[in-house]
Amino acid sequence: MRHARFIHQGRIREGIFEGDVLLDEQGSVVPIDGVTWLPPLVPRTVYGLALNYADHAVELNLEKPKEPVLFIKPNSSLIGHLSPIVYPAGVSYMHYEAELAVIIGRAGRRIRPDRAMDHVLGYTIANDVTVRDFVGNLYRPPIRAKGFDTFGPIGPWWVDAADVADPHRLAIRTYVNGAVRQQGNTKDLIFRMDDIISFISSFATLYPGDVILTGTPAGISPVTPGDVIEIEIEGIGRLKNPVVAEGASS
Ligand code: MG
Repeated sequence: MRHARFIHQGRIREGIFEGDVLLDEQGSVVPIDGVTWLPPLVPRTVYGLALNYADHAVELNLEKPKEPVLFIKPNSSLIGHLSPIVYPAGVSYMHYEAELAVIIGRAGRRIRPDRAMDHVLGYTIANDVTVRDFVGNLYRPPIRAKGFDTFGPIGPWWVDAADVADPHRLAIRTYVNGAVRQQGNTKDLIFRMDDIISFISSFATLYPGDVILTGTPAGISPVTPGDVIEIEIEGIGRLKNPVVAEGASS
């Protein structure tokens, strides 16, 4: 099942998507054109992984990490499907990062890898928008680079874990203005989701509503105001957001 949050007629609603039809909590059909999409859940903590695809590490001239490289993505950065990503004034290189996002459904500490996937509620799509200007060893972890308001598009909905046969075999693609810019597959994750969940929970309790961004494959490139970014993950959906200049009236 696909679970969505949206604003309809001035109220925040939760609903489900069945086929091409959006239904509210009462099962009434909601016209899609009339809704504002919200992040499909209100996360507790959003963990991110840097350098979790070998080909992406290569494109950045960095070594493959020996353990997961973590950061926290501020919840204040999160936006829903179709909301604009604001390009900060004065920066030189902003890019998208297509990522499978894992949603935790069951709390745990020191979770064994072979039990880790039992703690997963579902999956969604995230765009880990980043300003390269602020990424460098001096700035690790890259909280500012990835933490601007609007730098966390997520959605359009989340999908039950039971509906995703193999989360480690999903094609990922990013389109900018309709042209493919990034392609990958979750089979190429350096640290698989079970290992990531086990690693984080070795020091921090994972709670329901925590979200883990699993990293992006090779193929990052600059985007500028006026561009439209779409991220597609096989079996999950397609997340679309335009880029607008800071200060532009909307
Ligand atoms: Mg990322």
